[in-house]
Amino acid sequence: MLTGKVALVTGAGRGIGRQIALTLAEYGADVIVNYNGSKEKAEEVVHEIEKMGRKAAAVQCTVADYEACGRMITDMLTEFGHIDILVNNAGITKDNLMIRMTDADFDAVIETNLKGTFNTMKHMYRPFLKQKAGRIINLSSVTGILGNAGQANYAASKAGVIGLTKSVAKELAGRNITVNAVAPGYIDTDMTQAMTDSAKKAVLEQIPLQRAGTPKDVAETVAFLASDKASYITGQVISVDGGMAI
Ligand code: NDP
Repeated sequence: MLTGKVALVTGAGRGIGRQIALTLAEYGADVIVNYNGSKEKAEEVVHEIEKMGRKAAAVQCTVADYEACGRMITDMLTEFGHIDILVNNAGITKDNLMIRMTDADFDAVIETNLKGTFNTMKHMYRPFLKQKAGRIINLSSVTGILGNAGQANYAASKAGVIGLTKSVAKELAGRNITVNAVAPGYIDTDMTQAMTDSAKKAVLEQIPLQRAGTPKDVAETVAFLASDKASYITGQVISVDGGMAI
C-alpha cells in the first residue's frame, strides 16, 4: 500500500508515534523516526523497521524549534531522496485548571503541539509542491473538539491544529496534496498513564464503545489517510475515539 513512499513521523520513539512508524513500515514505507529525548527507543523503532526490510533513520529534533525542523528536513531529503508522508504526532500535555496554569505551561504546549506542527508543515510545503504530491496527517485530539476542564492549553493547541489542517488543505488541494487530522480519544500510552485512576474511570464512562483505544487503532487510520485509498479525502478530522465526540 505504501511501497516506495518515505514517511517522516514526529515523536516516533514511543506511544502512538512509535506505532504509526511501525504500521507505515508494515505497509511498505521507509520511515524517518523523529524523537526529542527518547534516543534509545527511537533507535529500537529503527531496528524493528529495518528487520521488516525497510529503510529507517532516527533523527533528533524538537519540533518546537523552527530552524532545527528545517535542518532535519533538509538532511532527511538528502538521505532519503524524497519525503511523501508527513505525520505530525509529537505532543505534550501540561494540565491544570486555568487558575493554576502558568503562562509558561500555556506557551510550552502551544509551541510543541501547534507551532511544532506548523514548523514541519512549513518546511515540507515547497518540497511537496515540487513533487506535486504529498500527504500530511496531523494529530489533533477529542479535547480539541470538545474542550476539557484542566486542559485549556492542550485543547487550544489541538483546536488550532484543526484550523491549521483545514486552511492548508484548502491551499494545497489543487496540487495533489492532502492534509487531514486524526483526533484520538483516550488511547493507552504514557500520556494517559499519567492520569489518576479516578480520572481514567471518568473518561472510560464517556466512551460509547466502552474501552480505551490502542495506538494501533490510531495508526491504522493514519496509514489509510497516507495511502492512495484516501486520495479524495482532504481537510477532514477523523475521530478515533470510540464515539466520545458523538
Ligand atoms: P506520549 O506522551 O506517549 O508520547 C509523546 C511523543 O511526543 C514522544 O514520542 C515524544 O518524544 C514526542 N515529543 C514530545 N515533545 C516533542 C518535541 N518537542 N519534539 C519532538 N517530539 C516530541 O504521547 P501519545 O503517544 O499518547 O500521543 C501522541 C499524539 O497523540 C500527541 O500529539 C497527543 O497529543 C495525541 N493524542 C493522544 C491521546 C492519548 O489518549 N494518548 C489522545 C488524543 C491525542 P520523546 O520521547 O523523544 O521526547
